[in-house]
Amino acid sequence: MTTRRRLRVDGIVQGVGFRPFVFNLAESLGLVGWVSNTSAGVFIEVEGMAASLDDFRRRLESDVPPLASISSVTSSDIPCEGDTDFTIRMSHNSPGTDTLIPPDVAICDDCLAEIRDPDNRRFGYPFTNCTNCGPRWTIIDRIPYDRPFTSMATFDMCDECLAEYQNPGDRRFHAQPNACGKCGPQVTLDGAGGEPIPTAARLLADGRIVAIKGLGGFHLAVRADDETAVTRLRARKHRDGKPLALMAADLEVVRQLCKLSDAEQAALTTPAAPIVLLQRKSRAAVAPSIAPGHQRLGVMIPYTPLHHLLFDALAPLGVTTLVMTSGNLSDEPICLDDDDARQRLDGIADAWLGHNRTILRRADDSVLQVLDDGPLFFRRSRGYAPVPIETCSKGPVVLAAGAELKNTVGLLKGSRCFLSPHIGDLENLATHDFFTETVRNLCDLFEAEPEVLACDRHPGYLSSKWAREEAERRGLPLIEVQHHHAHMVATMAEHKLTGPAVGIILDGAGYGDDGTIWGGEILVGDARWYERAAHLEPIPLPGGDAAVKAPWRTAVSYLRHAFGDDLPDLPWLGYRPVAPVVELLQHGLNTPLTSSCGRLFDAVAALTGHWGEIRYEAQAAIELMAKTTVELARRATPFSYQITQHDQRLILDLKKLIRDAAACAHDPVSLSSRFHRTLATMFCDAAESTAHSHGIEHIVLGGGTFQNEVLLRLVMDDLKRRGFRVLRPLMTSPNDGGLCLGQAIIARAKLD
Ligand code: ZN
Ligand code: ZN
Ligand code: FE
Repeated sequence: MTTRRRLRVDGIVQGVGFRPFVFNLAESLGLVGWVSNTSAGVFIEVEGMAASLDDFRRRLESDVPPLASISSVTSSDIPCEGDTDFTIRMSHNSPGTDTLIPPDVAICDDCLAEIRDPDNRRFGYPFTNCTNCGPRWTIIDRIPYDRPFTSMATFDMCDECLAEYQNPGDRRFHAQPNACGKCGPQVTLDGAGGEPIPTAARLLADGRIVAIKGLGGFHLAVRADDETAVTRLRARKHRDGKPLALMAADLEVVRQLCKLSDAEQAALTTPAAPIVLLQRKSRAAVAPSIAPGHQRLGVMIPYTPLHHLLFDALAPLGVTTLVMTSGNLSDEPICLDDDDARQRLDGIADAWLGHNRTILRRADDSVLQVLDDGPLFFRRSRGYAPVPIETCSKGPVVLAAGAELKNTVGLLKGSRCFLSPHIGDLENLATHDFFTETVRNLCDLFEAEPEVLACDRHPGYLSSKWAREEAERRGLPLIEVQHHHAHMVATMAEHKLTGPAVGIILDGAGYGDDGTIWGGEILVGDARWYERAAHLEPIPLPGGDAAVKAPWRTAVSYLRHAFGDDLPDLPWLGYRPVAPVVELLQHGLNTPLTSSCGRLFDAVAALTGHWGEIRYEAQAAIELMAKTTVELARRATPFSYQITQHDQRLILDLKKLIRDAAACAHDPVSLSSRFHRTLATMFCDAAESTAHSHGIEHIVLGGGTFQNEVLLRLVMDDLKRRGFRVLRPLMTSPNDGGLCLGQAIIARAKLD
């Protein structure tokens, strides 16, 4: 008997070859009907024998194309209409959209083979793509995802491209950015004459700096084995010390530079093509100033056809690895269009390898490390955003403004939280503009009207100021969320944990309820409430922010706290201007109190005499970590420490720890190993006692300090040994980049 069935498919089903897949599946089963792509999702009507319809339904989910992912299928039987064939209907708009926008995707093997095949019509064409690969988020103006609504709208397809686009059997059927050398975007080189790609390759081989337009913005590239060239790039970009990312020609080259496990190789070659932090080999042929003081190198492999063609041209010139750092002046947003790059990178780049396909949205490269239990995100951006985090929260639409540094914004709509790509540090006007533009983008693209706003409780964050003004302007409720509570709930949300948990939240700085700066915290609670159960003993920070850039000042404060006026005999105390700092501390002038874990790392590192001053955020902590390994730290003898009780709260007393640490300050390896071991044990002790007194078995981790793999692994192993269920961020970053997720969930819960 013939039956007709109507299906609605939700998930990542646009721009990923889903409709041709449905078409071919229906044809192969002899079904008639149609498939349609709307802004509310993909709708299908199929008519045929009931058994074939069941088959269709099953294979719809089991055989999905590689980039598609179905989150739900609903189906209902409807009256037969007796179509004569199966068709793909034109897209049309409808309200109440719930369709997911795919992220940008690295070039697929089929397309790569074509651009390297002299007999193929796309030989050497740098904008080759298909339904399985290519730009998405960065070229989409609005949904539904159809060519007229992308930055490819200005290019008319030639007859051959159009034939592919219209042929359901073709890999480029409805590939919206489909193009070839005859009809599509063209690459240009500004600043030098000649063929763009070969000339750019020659300039790079000569040690020159070339700005290269990628998927989500410009990179600045320079050959990675030329110290003079790399130093010049650093100087021109005003980037001091902070590691630079590399792009290696292929996996073979990666293996020459770094150790590469199967899981790391898999991460490098995912469609998202992130920067993966890999253990460097001692004789890696890269300039010393690429990642000074680091055991790891940030490496990615080419992910656009242009990258591949450039490396193909570089190979005969003996260049296999490039520094590829975001094309911006330090701390500004990455440059988007060719004119912007020409202007803002003037004096930095020697030439500009650009093109006329407009980038509509920025997307910085994502950065992650691979641990045994999954990825550890340092930055979740290109290739991941705007794939939502599925939560189990329900309620009004929330817009969360994030933090101040490494800002991202989040849109919680239904159960999905859409995290924006990396926006950056909201300290300059350009980044602030990028912030407001991203908010607008997210709301427009997902057709969401925020009903509640969420922000950090810090009165000085620009994101909080924006949220307060916006709430007033729109007459919306604003929920201000404590920083570490947001970290804790962010981790709970991605693991769909609603019940109360204990959170070990370690980071640099967050505004505390008592007006001091928190950052070494154990909280207990859920999305609706929390208590501060334990924390590092607060310490005066001499000079406030000045101490963040000069860890030796924090060290003086800790030393005074532990030893009183009788400071120990550490060589660096003789040549630093200690007296004025001591005076500040004695008079309590400009010495805000902090329980920050980041500052504790600073102080312990600075005890050695190294890292007295740092050149980028968390440098002292990162380089102190690099002195040890998980294995060394696990075997190390802990320092003494004390946990005391005060007003129902546990205080992690660091006086003994600092005394012990000062005694082994001459040996950075031992200091680092023992300190990591002690910190892990101390927090696990306090978390265990908190969990027991509240009858809780889940302990969640969050905060930027958990980007420290040594500390993270020690804490996780220790807590598991003690019988707890331990959850860490796997889909978002533990740093402030993941904060908006927690803010959004809390705002909803509080409004309830
Ligand atoms: Zn492809
Ligand atoms: Zn064409
Ligand atoms: Fe934080």
